[in-house]
Amino acid sequence: MAPDANTAIIPTGLPTDLLRPDLLRLNASPAGKEEAIREAAQLLIAAGCIDPAYAASMLRREAVANTFLGHGVAIPHGMVEDRGLVRRSGIAVLQVPGGIEWNPGQTAHLVVAIAAQSDAHIAVLRRLTRLMQDEARLTALFTVTDPTALAAALSEDAPVTAPTTPGGDLAERFDWVVDYPTGLHARPATAWVETARASAARIQVRHGDLVADAKALVALLQLGLRAGDSVVVSAEGEDAVAALARMKATITRLTAREKADAAAAAQKSRAPVRGWTPPNPLPAVPGIAASPGLAIGPVHVLPRAAVSVPDEPVPLIEGGDRLHEALSLTRQSLKALADDTARRLGPSEAAIFTAQAEILNDTDLVTLACQLMVEGHGVAWSWHQAVERTAAGLAALDNPVLAARAADLRDVGQRVLARIDPALRTGGAPDLPDTPCILIAEDLSPSDTAALDMARVIGLATAQGGPTSHTAILARTLGLPAMVAGGAALMELANGTPAILDGQTGRLHLSPAEADIADARAWIAREDARKAEEEARRGLPARTRDGHEVEIGANVNRPDQVAVALSQGAESVGLMRTEFLFLERGDAPGEDEQYETYRDMLTALEGRPLIVRALDIGGDKQVPHLQLPHEENPFLGVRGARLLLRRPELLETQLRALYRAAKDGGTKDGGALSIMFPMITALGEVQALRAACERIRAELDAPAVPLGIMVEVPAAAIQADVLARHVDFFSIGTNDLTQYALAIDRQHPELAAEADSLHPAVLRLIRLTVEGAERHGRWVGVCGGIAGDPFGAALLTGLGVRELSMTPRDIPAVKDRLRGSELSALRQAAQRALDCETADAVRALDGGEA
Ligand code: PEP
Ligand code: MG
Repeated sequence: MAPDANTAIIPTGLPTDLLRPDLLRLNASPAGKEEAIREAAQLLIAAGCIDPAYAASMLRREAVANTFLGHGVAIPHGMVEDRGLVRRSGIAVLQVPGGIEWNPGQTAHLVVAIAAQSDAHIAVLRRLTRLMQDEARLTALFTVTDPTALAAALSEDAPVTAPTTPGGDLAERFDWVVDYPTGLHARPATAWVETARASAARIQVRHGDLVADAKALVALLQLGLRAGDSVVVSAEGEDAVAALARMKATITRLTAREKADAAAAAQKSRAPVRGWTPPNPLPAVPGIAASPGLAIGPVHVLPRAAVSVPDEPVPLIEGGDRLHEALSLTRQSLKALADDTARRLGPSEAAIFTAQAEILNDTDLVTLACQLMVEGHGVAWSWHQAVERTAAGLAALDNPVLAARAADLRDVGQRVLARIDPALRTGGAPDLPDTPCILIAEDLSPSDTAALDMARVIGLATAQGGPTSHTAILARTLGLPAMVAGGAALMELANGTPAILDGQTGRLHLSPAEADIADARAWIAREDARKAEEEARRGLPARTRDGHEVEIGANVNRPDQVAVALSQGAESVGLMRTEFLFLERGDAPGEDEQYETYRDMLTALEGRPLIVRALDIGGDKQVPHLQLPHEENPFLGVRGARLLLRRPELLETQLRALYRAAKDGGTKDGGALSIMFPMITALGEVQALRAACERIRAELDAPAVPLGIMVEVPAAAIQADVLARHVDFFSIGTNDLTQYALAIDRQHPELAAEADSLHPAVLRLIRLTVEGAERHGRWVGVCGGIAGDPFGAALLTGLGVRELSMTPRDIPAVKDRLRGSELSALRQAAQRALDCETADAVRALDGGEA
């Protein structure tokens, strides 16, 4: 596009007459604040943006509100009731290199006077708030002598404010037809945002007239993209071409996973619905099935929680600080909640809270709140309004996926609100009757659901929500029968009405007779028996049809997780990542505390094997309180065994705790405990670590325990025959082995999908490890993620791996796969995989080996 004189400095996306060259004045030196405001107002008057009377309105505003935004920027503007004096939107910028005192202790260098008819100026505000996070860049603007540089800094990267803005595309573009079966929902959208944010370029996604900044999650979701929709992804800026290529790679890479997830969901929904049918027809409220199971009991209706947030204006700078602090505290608590949920319920449930944390990074949401504060509203009120307006926008799009996200947004919004003002805390544990009840609510947030007292709630029915809402997912994980979208009729029910909730068919049967209740109880008994049978099957060994048995372990970190692992069919703990004892707290646990944990772990396992991995700190697992030096390349730095050997106080405390646990393990040979060292690269490390073990064992007069190492560095795999002489076993960490073999950072958002542990190069390293171990009669396990993939487990078994340790939930499927296979066929498949040229070719063998 050939720019004309006026638009030359205004990048696309910002209304071109908003920040015109004649609205910028550099090197001004007003005598004081009032003169600065008048001077800025004069620019707006001269440009025809405001009636001269608006200048007085701007000064009046100063008397009732502080328009100092912080970091040397003030944003004077008129009173809301004087908006009629604004003829057209415009922004005048007065640069005052010498600064003027705006308020005592507050010096303004950029006076950004706003005349706003609509919300078009939000783009500049957003840019200002972004610039404030880049203080060096902002400070440079205080003295810059080139007006185009100032205008560009205030306008570039300014995303289009709302998805309703009709937009042109940016310089570089590609077209894409949405082929995610369930459309663009939060999980893939989060990946898009992450990729977009890794580039400096401005990137946008357009669907028809709707445009969204690719770096803003809520804006992307608001596009409401469904399968089959056409979009244009475009970019401009320095690295636009590369940025767009990365976006395309991310977008298309996710297709396979989205399709697989949808296929799995469809398969589940095709499974015969084993709902309950009442012997006699009963009145019922129909809804959508959300979590299977039958609950019999009285209903308890939770009244709608009306949040009334008072509008109590505070000085802008204070409001900004409070919002900032509330957002960062909420991010921290969501992180803790995600960690806790990951441990209690599993990684996909934890992702709910990770996605919520991402919502807090949404600049549109935060900017809207800031803008409301700038207009003179209180911080809590502004935040609440921003959340409500955005959530209402999502809910109104008539898209069930987005309706579910609206609930998330409100949930996370409520968390921030409670941080801004604890008096506004709502939700939490609702008042419940003493007898167990079926809880009825308009909608429940994921946090409310997670906090439910399971002794008192036997079922859940909500008027709103959808089957993919996070509340429904949590209910399934908690094993709580649930239905959603029952409509307003649910809320009309009288407290105490007897009911039977069927979470399989999504119906709430009302006022059942004795015979109905007896029939439902019999149904529950049959279901319980079926589940018990399923559990018993999980307890069977992973023995192939031709009699080869593989030990199946679980990767768990805490004693209270052992029971779940055993119920899934774990026969041992093949990897206890002890760094989590350090990561979840503000200080390092002492010897006694560690000893108790290891002892409790052994007790919980009742004699089953336990492999404790010594601390693997470094790389992606940073522990602030250990004060480790910063490293440019932490994955290639002082990590795992390297750190243990440099920090003897860490190593020795842990070894003492472990040998004490082995000594008290009850048996002469240390019970079922083994110790394993991470990130071994060289024989010298093994020898030094073994020597430390032996010294501490002798000091404590403890029994010897098997000592193993993780094989996760190619050097260790290649030298497995050498290392095997010095250790009792190997456990292959395929997550790291893959990262180091393929030179792909395991956390790299864009490359992670290429880091396939079934790459033939990785499989060859595994084969080398097995051969090296066999030469000295050692066994080899795998505790990286691929062990929990049924096809991966099959190939590993074929390669000669004897033990597989995985996330507990993966166990049943892996066991089923191995039980349905012949070892001879697995060996052949493994050989074919070793001969494959690519990871895709290996994956294509799936299904042909049984
Ligand atoms: C691995 O690298 O495969 C492994 C199991 O260790 P972690 O994931 O803890 O690095
Ligand atoms: Mg590892």
